[in-house]
Amino acid sequence: GLAAAVRRSAELEEAIARDPGRFQVSTGDRPTGRLHLGHYFGTLHNRVRLQDLGVGMTVVIADYQVLTDRDVATRLAEHVEELVLDYLAAGIDPARSTVFTHSAVPELNQLLLPFLSLVSVAELSRNPTVKDEIAQSRRSAVSGLMFTYPAHQAADILFCKAGLVPVGQDQLPHLELTRTIARRFNHRYGAAGAPVFPEPEALLSAAPLLLGTDGTKMSKSRGNAIALAASADETARLIRGSKTDAERHISYEPQTRPEVSSLVLLTALCLGRDPREVAEEIGGSGAAALKAAATEAVNEYLAPMRARRAAHAADRGHLRRVLREGNERAREVARTTLAEVRAAMDSVF
Ligand code: ATP
Ligand code: MG
Repeated sequence: GLAAAVRRSAELEEAIARDPGRFQVSTGDRPTGRLHLGHYFGTLHNRVRLQDLGVGMTVVIADYQVLTDRDVATRLAEHVEELVLDYLAAGIDPARSTVFTHSAVPELNQLLLPFLSLVSVAELSRNPTVKDEIAQSRRSAVSGLMFTYPAHQAADILFCKAGLVPVGQDQLPHLELTRTIARRFNHRYGAAGAPVFPEPEALLSAAPLLLGTDGTKMSKSRGNAIALAASADETARLIRGSKTDAERHISYEPQTRPEVSSLVLLTALCLGRDPREVAEEIGGSGAAALKAAATEAVNEYLAPMRARRAAHAADRGHLRRVLREGNERAREVARTTLAEVRAAMDSVF
């Protein structure tokens, strides 16, 4: 559950601080649009922080997974470039971190077959995040990829033997499945005492579930997001239109006042302050004052990122180079892992 994952994340942070070089991270995003504040404070900020601490970092642009809930992946190349721009703007450094796309690494995708054999249809069907996404998508036909993409995600994480995965709360069931797959693979095919795969752990941030302007999970597909690349004016307009509640006095109570508390948290994260203190300061000034404070904090925090993004956007050649080199590096790693997997499974064939 969430509480256990939050406690474990605090322990992991201590272990990382002691010896960052021991850790390997894998995470990613679907190229379905520009990244938003939920991505940033849910995972991207942690990625950059870990990278800067010296943790090995692999970032997957999950282009194949766009097909889970989109009939045709339109403007995919464009979305991929936008994603790379968001990464670079946020501080992902391609010299230290590997950024790549699924479609360029066939060896990674070959892991899906043995991995799928290790999980039951019942396990795939009861994944609460998948169920939620199916309900959200309001589509008449649900693709097989919708139920199996968490196993594909296990391949994203395990191909580079990552032990640490900075993610938002919605990813916890997927991480559980990845751990199950790693455990079962090692048990069935691994030599005793020499596991092929680590059992990766989720690293949650202080904002594992940032809410959007409508009070539900901020998400690209819900139209409730504030993009990192939005203009200052657009940001102000979106925050001004955000859902709050009828109570005038501002407080930080995530359980009972989710919308107001999410705005308080966002403000606090941008200012590097405690959300309770921020709420207390605004106090009786009400929702309008909270929104003004949030707007100012977000715009100030994002200004340097937005400037870096604009600078990188002018050099498309560089973006393509980042991907080409990342794809090559990821492919090398995936080749090695696939060879290991085949060797471990040798007894079967
Ligand atoms: P889509 O609507 O296309 O599914 P999304 O906005 O849900 O997009 P994902 O690409 O599914 O974004 O998520 C990428 C990463 O960002 C995951 O680790 C996820 O947990 C994290 N994340 C996404 N939205 C939030 C949020 N609102 N709060 C915290 N973390 C989030
Ligand atoms: Mg999503």
